[in-house]
Amino acid sequence: MSDHSNCVFCGIVRGDIPAIRLYEDEYTVAFMDIQPASPGHTLVIPKAHAANLFEISLTDLAAVTLTAQRIARAVHQALAPDGIRIMQTNGAAAGQTVFHYHVHIIPMQHGQRIGAHDREQVSPESLKALAAKIQAAIRT
Ligand code: 5GP
Ligand code: ZN
Repeated sequence: MSDHSNCVFCGIVRGDIPAIRLYEDEYTVAFMDIQPASPGHTLVIPKAHAANLFEISLTDLAAVTLTAQRIARAVHQALAPDGIRIMQTNGAAAGQTVFHYHVHIIPMQHGQRIGAHDREQVSPESLKALAAKIQAAIRT
């Protein structure tokens, strides 16, 4: 396993680095992307560090996938986007910038032309407002 002493997402799991959390269970955490590609962009990660798809355990992969489905359903219900893009990157060449496995949930609208990493700065208040809407739609 790769070194992860400075991993930002491990910091979020521990609570050392603040994040607007949506959901947490034994294996996973979901939180708002700090630089969203579109409003409602969320991330799902395993609590246990794994750099990428090649490293993640079967248990964590299954858990992250189930949480991603749960959050995608909530985003769909809360924000009613035309579609939802699920994205996951492995390696810098694929656009990975945080080397702790994560699944992106990106609401999409018809005609919207965004790359996964077209980013606008958004206020914490607007992120919190979206998070509250999504959280209210999460079925446990
Ligand atoms: P990647 O480019 O590795 O597929 O995606 C990493 C994502 O993590 C990006 O969408 C980026 O905006 C997000 N991100 C990076 N650092 C932080 C952080 O400290 N907090 C949160 N909430 N998201 C982060
Ligand atoms: Zn990590």
